[in-house]
Amino acid sequence: MEKAVELFQYLEDIGKEIEKTGFFVLGTPWGVDDVLAEAKKQAQAGNRWMWGLGSLGGFQISDALKDHVDKYPRIVEGQPILPHACGWTKLNKIKQENRVRFIRQYLCDPFAEEANGFSLKKIREYNEYSDGTIKCSCHEHHDHHLSKAAVVAVSDPAYTEDRANCESSILVAAKFSCGCRFLLEEWGDHVHTLDYEEKACEIANRHKLWLQRFGIESVNFQLALANNLKYRKEKGEFPLNVELPEKGSPALLMPKRRDKDARIASQISPVNSGLWHVRPTMGQNHNTEKPNLMEQLYRWPFSRKRDRADAFGYFDDCWEGLSGSNYVAEDEVNINEEVQRQDFENMRLDEAYA
Ligand SMILES: [Zn+2]
Ligand SMILES: [Zn+2]
Repeated sequence: MEKAVELFQYLEDIGKEIEKTGFFVLGTPWGVDDVLAEAKKQAQAGNRWMWGLGSLGGFQISDALKDHVDKYPRIVEGQPILPHACGWTKLNKIKQENRVRFIRQYLCDPFAEEANGFSLKKIREYNEYSDGTIKCSCHEHHDHHLSKAAVVAVSDPAYTEDRANCESSILVAAKFSCGCRFLLEEWGDHVHTLDYEEKACEIANRHKLWLQRFGIESVNFQLALANNLKYRKEKGEFPLNVELPEKGSPALLMPKRRDKDARIASQISPVNSGLWHVRPTMGQNHNTEKPNLMEQLYRWPFSRKRDRADAFGYFDDCWEGLSGSNYVAEDEVNINEEVQRQDFENMRLDEAYA
């Protein structure tokens, strides 16, 4: 996509040099940073004066082109453009077989509500109480206490030192046996490796009462990161009870199991079944420069800024084999539980004084 935009800019520059040139851009818009988006940006900046941009549900056209009815596409909005060659039967088949391809190649409005499969309004809000109880209004009678949940972190550290390139991300979520999922924390930033490690320790410590596993995507030298965190564990900087990636552990998140899009799509079903919950502060932030998880899911698969969405797709891999095994009934308290309880009391005190 980047290359295409670059080539478009070169071509356009050449056109500008020649008097009375016409440069027609035809295509299907399918992303926030594709060639048509760039062309539209140019037009809005006043560099182009005759333009039209089609999409299902609306054909936008510049004032300069309004009188040129002959230039309008002869289509009925919402209907196939060439029904004899590619009608609804074929379109529905493509949609069934490959939703992403259907949206990218045939649907002109990539951000239409639920077009990408995610029904984000099904993600409800929850509140967490200081004792670890979680409350949502959609599952009022479920027993949601973090001690009974599988709590894991999934993480996708950026593997270049080039800060402008990729965002590192860490997400923490709890899953209950009823299927309900709660996003406890999301973090993403352009940081260097050392800062990532610091952040990983900070987040793991914040959730250490319930956190069981810290998953890291295993690409290239990210295994070195896992080893650094193990070292920090020995030094007491990373919580002892939290499993880190090693060979054969589900904390070692394997990118090759599925492609990225398929992995993210694996969360469509739980999202649309109303199983995912976020904190009130985690709603879609409408920030295309620094999109949060909800914004990235909304823009998926059409935006390059998708590191948190990528991590989000790993949750089911990382929950593998875990349940709320932390729970111990009152009369079974052992010394470790007592230490944990003490930790918990201290944390509450910290909070009270904060
Ligand atoms: Zn609920
Ligand atoms: Zn539930």
